[in-house]
Amino acid sequence: MESNGANLNGNALNGNSSDKSTLDEGLVRHALDDDIRNVIIIGSGPSGYTAALYTARANLQPLLIAGSLDPKTSRIKGGQLMATSDIENFPGAIESGDVAIEDVKGLTGPDLMGRMEKQALHFGAEMIEEFVTEVDLCTSPGNVYTVKTESGQTYRTRSIIIATGASAKRLGIPAEDKFFGQGGGVSTCATCDGHSYRGKTVAVVGGGDSAMEEANYLARLVDKVYLVHRRDEFRASKIMLKRAQDNPKIEFRLHSTIEDIKGKPHPNAEIMPFFRDKEVVAAAVLKDTRSGEISEIEVDGIFVAIGHTPNSELFKSQLKMDEAGYIEHDGHMRVMPSITCESPVMRRLEYVPGVFVAGDISDHVYRQAITAAGMGCMAAIEAERYLAEVMTEVAGVDPGTVDISPESIAQSHWSHERDQIGEKSILERVVEAEQL
Ligand code: NAP
Repeated sequence: MESNGANLNGNALNGNSSDKSTLDEGLVRHALDDDIRNVIIIGSGPSGYTAALYTARANLQPLLIAGSLDPKTSRIKGGQLMATSDIENFPGAIESGDVAIEDVKGLTGPDLMGRMEKQALHFGAEMIEEFVTEVDLCTSPGNVYTVKTESGQTYRTRSIIIATGASAKRLGIPAEDKFFGQGGGVSTCATCDGHSYRGKTVAVVGGGDSAMEEANYLARLVDKVYLVHRRDEFRASKIMLKRAQDNPKIEFRLHSTIEDIKGKPHPNAEIMPFFRDKEVVAAAVLKDTRSGEISEIEVDGIFVAIGHTPNSELFKSQLKMDEAGYIEHDGHMRVMPSITCESPVMRRLEYVPGVFVAGDISDHVYRQAITAAGMGCMAAIEAERYLAEVMTEVAGVDPGTVDISPESIAQSHWSHERDQIGEKSILERVVEAEQL
């Protein structure tokens, strides 16, 4: 089988034709090697699970490396939604049953993530619960990438979807862990958990746009919001700041940090044994950053809005990122090489062939479960197209024989279309075309 010389990797290159022939040779060698995965998805939030579902339905036998629980970083399989109570804004994610409109209840974060996982596994995704420790994109771009996990296992793959998400920054005080998530009173997501505090008092920590946005959002639900910020200057935009300052329900506590959190018995402690030893937030202990003076505010919830950290450290010096470490993509979810990448071949690529990104790792603007899921779908379709293009190339199939445009691939995922094409993946159709 030979390459006809005009492959996707050729298109990815910025010029040098000897680089291109190196890439082509690698492709020919590896295209049909069964030991090599078609696609590995790293990360298991809404973007990772959606990418797994789509690539599984495309018969690409994806491997999802989902993570597990890391107590040091609080990273957990399922991602940020695992620390979320009711989800109200993921369309369709409501408890089943015939209930009146006013009684409709969203699923919990863990429930939604559990369903997404099950759906991806049902369609054939393989999943391992480990963290990835190393990804080598530089040595052999466009051929075969290697992914190592913490157990020492090495996987080889033709394509990768990076869906490692972002982690909300935490205050880092010991009491924070005790009350974090599961209704304990400390949260990093007002749109996820705010509804539990209707008619109550909460504190929001931070001085950026996130803090102002969360404070304004919460003020619609709660009786009072304390905005706790460590200085009297703000990173927030003027308009967002002014909106919060003008809101009569929001009281600013400036030059203040939260030093400790006090608890009270869980409201269900009397009636449910599970909650007997559990506490919820009762007060925040504040320290004045100038005088050191300690004071207390009574609050039922604390929303930490001090920014997010993209989980992109695995890809530092390999992929192009913005200043904050969010991985950039080209609109087709393709990632670009870093200028500090050690490999000269990689540095000359416009994008890294076969490597895609999805979800919060590449999005510091929308950061919603539904947008992450959408990006996971797009990355999966792009990965499918990439693999089909590589196979068409390697198999020497006339590109006119099989339509591998993104539109055609997307259409092949419509359920009624799949009936017509007999559940065949795009790769199977390429192989069939080769045999004609
Ligand atoms: P940010 O702009 O980095 O602000 C973080 C805030 O948290 C700062 O005020 C910082 O204080 C404070 N902080 C950081 N670490 C802290 C700690 N350990 N203890 C106490 N306070 C701490 O982050 P962001 O607000 O999440 O915004 C990130 C980006 O998203 C920005 O570009 C923002 O404009 C954008 N965004 C836009 C919107 C919107 O337009 N609707 C909404 C949200 C976010 P210092 O200032 O003292 O460092």
